[in-house]
Amino acid sequence: MLPEIHDNVSLADHSTMRLGGHAKQLAKVRTEAEVKQLVDWAKHQNLPIIMIGEGSNIVWQDEDFDGLIIVNRIPGKKLLKEDAKSVTVEISSGEYWDEVVAWTVKRGWSGLEFLSLIPGYAGAAPVQNIGAYGGELSNVFVELEAYDTRKREFVKLKKKDCRFGYRTSRFKTTDKRRFLITSLKLKLSKSNPKPPFYEALQDYFTEHKIKHFTPLTIREAVMSIRPIKLPDPSNVANNGSFFINPIISKAEFQKLFAKFLDLKYWPHGNKVKLSAAWLVEQAGFKDYHDKVTGMGTWPNQCLVLVNENAKSSDDLIVFKNKIVKAVHDKFGIILEQEPELLP
Ligand code: NAP
Repeated sequence: MLPEIHDNVSLADHSTMRLGGHAKQLAKVRTEAEVKQLVDWAKHQNLPIIMIGEGSNIVWQDEDFDGLIIVNRIPGKKLLKEDAKSVTVEISSGEYWDEVVAWTVKRGWSGLEFLSLIPGYAGAAPVQNIGAYGGELSNVFVELEAYDTRKREFVKLKKKDCRFGYRTSRFKTTDKRRFLITSLKLKLSKSNPKPPFYEALQDYFTEHKIKHFTPLTIREAVMSIRPIKLPDPSNVANNGSFFINPIISKAEFQKLFAKFLDLKYWPHGNKVKLSAAWLVEQAGFKDYHDKVTGMGTWPNQCLVLVNENAKSSDDLIVFKNKIVKAVHDKFGIILEQEPELLP
């Protein structure tokens, strides 16, 4: 049976930034079969489709979406395979991400602990290849299953097919909205995580005299330090880090470094990763509250844009552009937005 379909639904209620227009229709799915049924139904009505989880990384435009939003709530987590060194698990895309992390950590499986407290549902994780504290989904990713709305069939996509990059994948770029992700297969390790760790984590371990590292000690550390810098979207309207750390060539970096000796950066393969937070701060947006747009930057992490009392997504976009321009004028770097702009 077709799931219940709601009309004229506020998209602001489906984004942690709490902005956006309305969707013509919205339905919640709990099984893969319902995904197919809804796609068939929407194709028959000529309606475009967007699948979402929590909307923690979506900026909805103000214009209404003349289509169907599918809210993914397909439950399921199971152990598929186990050997002396590793486990392979299957996670349905409607599982809440942090509960997935908790489930793996509780069993002593390593790989997701660095990604603790990232908001959203599992299906969103591959879209931007979520990462935190040096961990990244692609490190443990095997394959995913998705409904291909172009071919009208369920497909399996291996890691190399997903074209993961730093906070990106084909699902966010060339194939935006084509695949409705229904489950993930991940390979986790039975060995403990090893240093070196990101400075913020290492400082925590030093301060708490922790020398033996397990998935649980990492998760506890992340759960202690992450909320200090990043606001909880259930209390403060935000999309987490709004800009991706720019990755530039060594030659570009040398030119910039000659002018800005205190530039914050990290080596990134044969390139250099710049701190977007530092660039935004230096461009004058630390603890910034914009009266015109009702937007601001979070006091403890200026990379997090906060909806204080914005009236529309246009306000957010005007504020974002103001930051992008200021950073470009000062450093010649174009900041790239991390949350997806939809529809
Ligand atoms: P933080 O620890 O204060 O670090 C700020 C930034 O510095 C991060 O963007 C991080 O890069 C970078 N960084 C820190 N130590 C680094 C090292 N040793 N090598 C390379 N890069 C380093 O971060 P925060 O703002 O409190 O956020 C905590 C973590 O959550 C960060 O890792 C951040 O990236 C992550 N996060 C991810 C998302 C997402 O995936 N959507 C959203 C919000 C925050 P990386 O971004 O490359 O880790």
